[in-house]
Amino acid sequence: MSRKTRILILGGGSGGLELAAQLAGRRDIDVTLIDRVTSHLWKPRLHEFAAGTVSSSLAEISFYILGQLRGFRFEQGEVVGIEHAMKAVRLAPMRDERGAVVTPERLLTYDYCVVALGGVTPDFNTTGVAEHAVRLDGQGDAEAFRQRFIRHMIRARSTGVPADIVIIGSGATGTELAAHLRHSERAFFDWSQNAPGDSPKLLNLTILEAAPELMPGAEPALRDKLLERLRALDIKVVTDAKITRIDVQEIRTATGESWPSDITVWAAGLIGNPILARLGAFKLDKKGRILVDTHLRSTTDDAVYVMGDSAACTPEGADAPLPPTAQAASQQAQYLAQALPRVMVNAPVEDFTFRNKGRLVSLAGAGAVGMIGLRRRDDILIHGQFAAAAYDALQRQHQWRVLGPLRGSVAILADLISPTAGPPLKLHGG
Ligand SMILES: Cc1cc2nc3c(=O)[nH]c(=O)nc-3n(C[C@H](O)[C@H](O)[C@H](O)COP(=O)(O)OP(=O)(O)OC[C@H]3O[C@@H](n4cnc5c(N)ncnc54)[C@H](O)[C@@H]3O)c2cc1C
Repeated sequence: MSRKTRILILGGGSGGLELAAQLAGRRDIDVTLIDRVTSHLWKPRLHEFAAGTVSSSLAEISFYILGQLRGFRFEQGEVVGIEHAMKAVRLAPMRDERGAVVTPERLLTYDYCVVALGGVTPDFNTTGVAEHAVRLDGQGDAEAFRQRFIRHMIRARSTGVPADIVIIGSGATGTELAAHLRHSERAFFDWSQNAPGDSPKLLNLTILEAAPELMPGAEPALRDKLLERLRALDIKVVTDAKITRIDVQEIRTATGESWPSDITVWAAGLIGNPILARLGAFKLDKKGRILVDTHLRSTTDDAVYVMGDSAACTPEGADAPLPPTAQAASQQAQYLAQALPRVMVNAPVEDFTFRNKGRLVSLAGAGAVGMIGLRRRDDILIHGQFAAAAYDALQRQHQWRVLGPLRGSVAILADLISPTAGPPLKLHGG
């Protein structure tokens, strides 16, 4: 019997995990998924973990358990390099909390490797970002933010002085986080002393945007609706605010203005994961993402494919690489799940094509707004319950692909009828 084809997937995020789940279980493929952490958190909901407005226990899934359920192998470790000539991926030694080596450096060999290591928020060389601002790039950042947020809310409640949270960047991460924090603030009101609606304010929320308008690149109708909702939530939006310096409790702009800030969140843009520059012999674009062809193959090594936020992918006919979204990562996972088995047997493979299904922004208690693309029609603005349902549907589709049709349906049903369905607040520490 011929040996199974070994496919190594680096990174179990929105794209990598969907691909692993879809390729697993085939008789001709051995799938190994590698991630530095033990559980998958669907990144579009990271701001909800940070704000404590987690809306589904299923948002966090153990790679070990899922590997067992779907039939892939999970290897925990930090990817540090690809040895192209050996067709091997290098994982750093794993150490315990005292620095003792648990596992020495590992080399895992492959026939095909898929890089899905995501991206990070760049600081654009702004003074003080690394030291004094929070960037929501992973689970650890969201958890650290949540702990700080809780401490500031407790202090605001006991002193009567509202905490200042300033978010820099008015993209989806910034606007969604602000709305979810406003929702979480309610949990700290003293309901025993005040009638609903009479509680003193505990939180000042400001979004600073360097561009002349909110959410640059968004459709004007969506932007207007968003601004209306943010104003109703008492979230201040300041545009044309170019940040030059961040200090412990202050933010300075190029025009000499300054803003007090107890917690500063830096949510300005996204570039490729810095490891990509040292990973192997790849060509990168100016945002640090690996250049790929229309089959998502790296332009320098036919055995290495790249997807999601790590890839600079310009589909045929497009004039710029796709922006970093879970939507693109998911469509690329579906494409590679079909394409790789064909590549293995030298069958012809079609180009990857992207279908933009729109843009949705979740504003916690204030609902959701978005533009959705309908086939053969202009995009339409949606809001209210329909938009909220559409936003939830994005995650449901992800769960479905990751868990499979049967377990996916059961899990989604259980989630919907759970007594804690709705947006429960996860505001406990630890
Ligand atoms: C707050 C927020 C809201 C968003 N909302 C939306 C939205 O509404 N709609 C939408 O389409 N997109 C949204 N996005 C964007 C979306 O989350 C990303 O585009 C998507 O997750 C990219 O998927 P990925 O598989 O490329 O990477 P990721 O999902 O980032 O996964 C990367 C994985 O690689 C692992 N990893 C990284 N480095 C290493 C290493 N050296 N070794 C081992 N493992 C490593 C990480 O642990 C992680 O599991 C949002 C993003 C954020 C932060």
